[in-house]
Amino acid sequence: MPEQYDVVVVGGGLAGLTAGLFACRYGLKTALVEANIPGGQIINAEKIENFPGFPQGIAGAELGPQVQEQAMQYGLDLKLAEAARLVLRDPYRVVETSEGPIQCKAVVVAAGSSLRKLGIPGEEEFYGKGVSHCATCDGPFFANEVVGVVGGGDSALDEALSLTQFASRVLLFHRRDTLRAQKVLQGRVLAHPKVEVRWNTRVTAIHGDSQVRSVAVQDTRSGETSQAPLSGMFIYVGLEPNTRWLQGAVPLDNSGHIPVDLWMQTPVAGVFAAGDIRQHSAAQLVTVAGDGATAAIAAYRYVSGRTWG
Ligand code: NAP
Repeated sequence: MPEQYDVVVVGGGLAGLTAGLFACRYGLKTALVEANIPGGQIINAEKIENFPGFPQGIAGAELGPQVQEQAMQYGLDLKLAEAARLVLRDPYRVVETSEGPIQCKAVVVAAGSSLRKLGIPGEEEFYGKGVSHCATCDGPFFANEVVGVVGGGDSALDEALSLTQFASRVLLFHRRDTLRAQKVLQGRVLAHPKVEVRWNTRVTAIHGDSQVRSVAVQDTRSGETSQAPLSGMFIYVGLEPNTRWLQGAVPLDNSGHIPVDLWMQTPVAGVFAAGDIRQHSAAQLVTVAGDGATAAIAAYRYVSGRTWG
């Protein structure tokens, strides 16, 4: 007999933890399934400056555990396991995990996203030998060296700024001539003496021996190619939703995100989605936390048979 809960939340980022907090406070017996340390993508964020209530900013490594503690205070059961499959067995939903199945009445899918890969030669080969997706974790290995960052969004700019603490120079490779990141980050990056933006530049390959030595780049307008010597390459070219395990159980859009209505209800009754895994998410901490709360309230109404309005 599988373990039984009212609600199972899949994913321990801010969306999932907030869903867990709210579900517990509504009196629902709730488990949260997470394979890694709860906190999600923010756990490596050095300083979060746009979460309301922290005018001086807060480290991700501080905020994540605080929300976890807050949710566990109200009875959230944390399961260290990987969700492998969602099975619809009306009136129940079963989350099959690496540690066994969990049966519940409603599921909140808040499994977040993974960093997208560039898909260029050398990216896999030099992963851990100069190629990284975590400037906060790996930046100190590049003291006084030249490093590269790919991307023009908030992640790339945040991480480029973080790398300036260690590297002698940070080359920011962006495929267009305008950045999409928040203006406050653009201002800091463009004014930083250690950051050099290589506009209209695509990174096409990563080269090295036992570690990264250079990247091949191409000017997107002229097509001209060249090499840029560097020893670290940090890739931030967007996010991909962690929805593969849901295929067949919940409809996904073309980009793999989960369509939801304003109450985070997916097309499948009793299955809700929250955070950047859902379609059209603003993918900001404050919005994913809001999704988590909304999904938990919707799950409560679903489980208790309450009508809307
Ligand atoms: P993003 O906003 O999707 O930006 C991805 C960047 O990578 C874009 O500049 C894009 O270029 C570039 N890119 C995509 N595919 C590429 C390719 N194949 N080759 C070269 N460049 C490529 O992703 P993100 O920066 O990871 O941010 C994800 C979400 O998290 C966003 O909603 C963001 O606001 C949020 N976030 C917020 C913060 C913060 O508040 N401080 C920090 C991190 C992330 P184009 O611009 O040309 O499309």
